[in-house]
Order: sequence, then C-alpha cells, then structure tokens
Amino acid sequence: MVGIDKKRQVLTQDEAFEYGSIVPPIYQTSTFTFANYDSLEDRYSGKSNADIYSRTENPTSRILEDKLAQLEGGEAAAVFGSGMAAISSTVLALVKSGDKVISVQHAYSDAYRLFEVLLKQFNISVEYVDCSDLEALDIALSGAKLLFLESPSSFTFETHDIRAVAQLAKKYKTITLIDNSFATPLYQNPIEHGIDLVVHSLSKYLSGHSDVVAGCTIGSEQLIKKIRDTSLSLLGGKLSAMESSLILRGMRTLELRLKAHSDAADYILTHLEKDHRITQINFPGYSSTIHDSLTGTGGLFSIQLAEGANIKAFCDAMTIFRLGVSWGGYESLMLPVEVAGRIDSGPNAINDFGVHRNTVRLFVGLEGNDLLLQDILSGLEAAFSSDQQQISDLDNVAVNN
Ligand SMILES: *Cc1c(COP(=O)(O)O)cnc(C)c1O
Repeated sequence: MVGIDKKRQVLTQDEAFEYGSIVPPIYQTSTFTFANYDSLEDRYSGKSNADIYSRTENPTSRILEDKLAQLEGGEAAAVFGSGMAAISSTVLALVKSGDKVISVQHAYSDAYRLFEVLLKQFNISVEYVDCSDLEALDIALSGAKLLFLESPSSFTFETHDIRAVAQLAKKYKTITLIDNSFATPLYQNPIEHGIDLVVHSLSKYLSGHSDVVAGCTIGSEQLIKKIRDTSLSLLGGKLSAMESSLILRGMRTLELRLKAHSDAADYILTHLEKDHRITQINFPGYSSTIHDSLTGTGGLFSIQLAEGANIKAFCDAMTIFRLGVSWGGYESLMLPVEVAGRIDSGPNAINDFGVHRNTVRLFVGLEGNDLLLQDILSGLEAAFSSDQQQISDLDNVAVNN
C-alpha cells in the first residue's frame, strides 16, 4: 500500500535536476541524437534504452510517468495526449476481432462511444453490466477478454466493490481496466485491490488548472510495455513535454486542492440536503452504498431537481458556476443532462442507460464555499419561480412557431 506520506513526497519533491533546478526541465525536442554508430546500434538492438524520439519517450514525460506509477502502486505508466487516447490505446492494445468486452453502465460518454462505434467496426462486442450485481457480472464475464470499470461512474457517481469485481475477473482471466479519474490516486488505488490497469484523464484534478488535455495508463511492466510497443507508438497519441511539465506543476498542489474541493462540496451539500426542491443528490457520500476502496470524494456531483423545475432558468440564473464540460480545475462548472443528452454524434450513455432529465452535474471549484452555495440557491429560486416558468413557456411557443 502506498501511504499518504509517500504520496505527498512523490507529488511535491524531486531530486535536484541539472544545474540544481528545482523544477523538472522541459525537454522540448522531437529527436535524440547518438554519439556514434555503436550507440545507435545498441539502442536498436535493445542493449541500451536511450531515448530515440518523443512520439514514444521523452525525459520530461518520463518524470511524470514515474510519479503516476508510484502514486497508484503500479510498476509502470504511459502518458497520452488525452484521457480518451489513454483509454482507446489501452483497449485497442489488448483486444482483437471476435473478442468480448464487458463494460460498466454509465461509463464516461466517449468511452461508451469508443465501444459502440469503433470497437463494433472491428467485430468486438461490448456488453454492459450493472457491476453492483456480482451474479450478473459472474455470468457475463465468461469468455470476456477485458472488463472496463469506472467507479464512481459518470453523471450518477455510483461506486462498486472493485475488490470483489477484480476477484471475479481473475476467475475468468479477464483483464480489468478502471477509469479512476474521479478519485485520483489520492482517494483510490485500484491496483491494490487487484485491478490490472488504471487510466486517468489528467485533464481534470491532476493537472488541475483547466489548461491541459492529457491522460495516462498505469499497470504492470508487461502490460504497459505491450501498450507502448503497439498502440502508443502506432496510433501516436503521446503527451508532449510541455504539457507533461504543466501536469507536474499541478500535481504539487493536488492534495491541497482536493481537500478544498471536498470541503466546498461537503459544505454546499449539507445545506442542500434537506431542500425539497432537490429530489436526489448523486455523490458517493450520499448514496446507500459507498465502498471502502474510495477514501475521499472531491467536488464533483449531480443533483436532480424536483418535478416542474425550469432547468434553463436554473442554469441561467447562476453567475459563478459556468456552463461547460470538464471539471477538476479552479472554476466551478455545470452541465445539465437535458442538454448533454442531445449531443448528435452517435450513441449517448446518458440516454441509453437513463439519467433523469432534471439532473444537473455540478463541479464545485475554489471561488469560495458560501458564494457558491448562494449561487446554487439563486439558481433554485429561479428554477421554481412562476415568472421564469412563464418566460420559458413563451420561449417554447417562440421555438414551436
Ligand atoms: C474527462 C474524462 C475522460 C476523458 O478525458 P480527456 O482528457 O478529456 O480525453 C475520461 N473519463 C472521465 C471520467 C472523464 O471525466
């Protein structure tokens, strides 16, 4: 088990670099040269592991990869140009035509589209299972090559007993892969519980400043090598040195930021918990089942407004929370299911697994707990004021005409 002291050290401290530099240097270079013929030949014949080309390896990215592997308790890691590049490259390195993949329901929207659109083109079938139903999972896993998990899941934030799920998968020699973006390596370490591979969107909490799109995969030396040797180099979705550096900077404050987001969400939800205008709070701390692999909850949750709520008025009345996808940065963001369910680019997990239309996903940022609570309260006021309802009725008439 990787303790918090060790994690804190990995996040915040480095050996001194060249020139005593306290910050990891950015090796902004595409290629690496070799002093002579023999050293080039040694690299190609596998006698040395010198860097060749930044599509597959780069010293700045490697510092990030080493930290991520240590934080998750994995042997190795690979970083990618997005969380989706990490997910798709990992899945494509492990499956072939004719294979069966099992996925959790309510998987991240684009992971779901990867399964439904791209994998189908290669004759790979994907079956979606409620992973809290271990009996159903036991039946589904027979003959499955890969099990894709996400706990807590997207939009509904359900948690699963990942230890029990990992054990079941081992029985069928099914490789397990979990999207751990919600928890970060600070709040959940799936490898400790028997999961084979962990992916993160580094665009969220780990970079933490809404200025990078990036991802990573962490696991055994053997599986990461397989990904490196095939999909990482051949699909080419590698992360740049510059962005690796931005993530390394963000990680210095990961523990502090997560604590602040968690405190803010707890403060706000304590006040909203008994509000009759909210019929459901989807947040691991507020569900009947929260599994003990998850040791913290952060600032991302969703609320379901009561019948009759004007969701448009709710969103437009709020001034601190801004409308937009993503989360994990400084800024508070919201995304209404009513709109997210409309995206016209293929299968949509929100619609296919059913998320209530009155649900709004909220990400609580660092603007100040009371300011954010007041913002939500003014949204609620607008959502249920009869004036707003009339305005929205007029809008609908205008649209219909
Ligand atoms: C954002 C996100 C992803 C995708 O990551 P990108 O870096 O945007 O490609 C995957 N999983 C979860 C849970 C996410 O929130």
